[in-house]
Amino acid sequence: MVRLRARLARSQTTLGKGLLELLSRDRLDDDVWDEIEETLIGADVGVAPTQAMVEELRTRVKVLGSRTPEQVRGLLKEQLLTQIGADTDRTLHVAKHGERPAVVLVVGVNGTGKTTTTGKLARSLIGDGNRVVLGAADTFRAAAADQLQTWGDRVGAEVVRGPEGGDPASVAFDAVARGIDDKAGVVIVDTAGRLHTKTGLMDELGKVKRVIEKKATVDEVLLVLDATTGQNGMRQAQVFAEVVNITGIALTKLDGTAKGGIVISVQRELGVPVKLVGLGEGPDDLAPFDPEVFVDALLG
Ligand code: GDP
Repeated sequence: MVRLRARLARSQTTLGKGLLELLSRDRLDDDVWDEIEETLIGADVGVAPTQAMVEELRTRVKVLGSRTPEQVRGLLKEQLLTQIGADTDRTLHVAKHGERPAVVLVVGVNGTGKTTTTGKLARSLIGDGNRVVLGAADTFRAAAADQLQTWGDRVGAEVVRGPEGGDPASVAFDAVARGIDDKAGVVIVDTAGRLHTKTGLMDELGKVKRVIEKKATVDEVLLVLDATTGQNGMRQAQVFAEVVNITGIALTKLDGTAKGGIVISVQRELGVPVKLVGLGEGPDDLAPFDPEVFVDALLG
């Protein structure tokens, strides 16, 4: 967690610093409030959460009158935590069901960091003492299975793959079967992120899920979202959220953006909590999302 704080503090200083400065001004006229609004929207907070925050801040500031820097920080922290959902349950469901492994399905658009996140998550679960099996259900790109294999070798997870162009559902089934045979704790299935057609995607992911459920339960459906793609990425992610029942978001590349507000807008628009954040390309660059640490890092 210390590392998470340090990493975030380095990459995301604009939102917090700008807001603290604006809110500390003696006179908060409409121009300043407009600037506060623009800062929030510019940091990908999203329009509705921005308006809710500004309205609440205006009321609170009026009540306070003169403000100490600590009060301003406290106000902002409270508002950001309200929008992020400080008490939201962000548990990753990776507990075994008796002898059966937990199953995590990883979905999202290609290039968002699905395979990398799968590898990092495997690393973390293995570190917790689990045996982990990875399923390379992206059978459309040979390179994708090779990349997952590299991660598997790197972190010590077995990788189940199928023939190129084969049936993704059959790979998912085999991975779960292997997980059961090997008494694995968790099976993570990395899926294809082809946004061909919505019905195509729905059929494909639906089938993967149905086939897994012949042998086990799908405990988590993690949607991987690239934090640097902002609102565009969100629109694509929404298609996934419409076709499968997402249970959590893994927000990647937070190390590559100063727009930390994306955490707020993705949760609001997808109705699902951010559970994991990606902070780099290395095997240990994945952290559970902690709102308090995150907001502290934003505010510097
Ligand atoms: P996929 O197509 O969705 O499986 O995406 P990949 O896992 O292949 O990732 C695409 C690129 O993003 C790769 O170059 C990764 O190293 C990089 N990447 C993934 N996650 C992160 C992250 O959290 N931070 C950074 N900086 N790069 C990342």
